[in-house]
Amino acid sequence: MVRQVEFIAGSLCLNLVDTIADRNGKALELLNTPEDLRNWIGQAGLPDNVPVDAAGLADVRLLRGAVFNAVSSVLDGGQVSAPDADLLNTLARVADFRPQFVDGTVRHISAHPFASALSSIAADALNLLPPAGPDRLRRCPECGMLFLDKSRPGNRIWCSSATGCGNRAKVRRHRAKKTETARHER
Ligand SMILES: [Zn+2]
Repeated sequence: MVRQVEFIAGSLCLNLVDTIADRNGKALELLNTPEDLRNWIGQAGLPDNVPVDAAGLADVRLLRGAVFNAVSSVLDGGQVSAPDADLLNTLARVADFRPQFVDGTVRHISAHPFASALSSIAADALNLLPPAGPDRLRRCPECGMLFLDKSRPGNRIWCSSATGCGNRAKVRRHRAKKTETARHER
């Protein structure tokens, strides 16, 4: 099955982290070409047609790693490393897209659109770090996906990925129970 890019992690930067799918298993890279990244940027809610080259793809992978490390550290009760904090800070300092009314419509524009895309993602990540909001950060126990729990009660355990982590865990528990029962019946 070809794994599709999903936008279900609950935030821009966590959706980027999720472009390595199935982190606990096969760790599938979903951003393989600059074109993949260009499409991702448009679908992620950032402006369309941001120019991306191979160096840009490499930069985004670095940023993705820093977001993953920083959020994972927070989830594990640890500290964000200095290099990860430096990268996020540096990228977030660049001016973000700004709304401008052009030709009868509002467009989000930047003189440096790619740098602004990185800036948006880095800023989103910084907003997930203390003290802003680590309380709803989650890690799916099945696939390792990081996500923001936006459910009202705030009790989501599994990601809502199409891979069906919650179901898989349920099926496994059911099977384990059956095996257990069969053993007792012998
Ligand atoms: Zn999952």
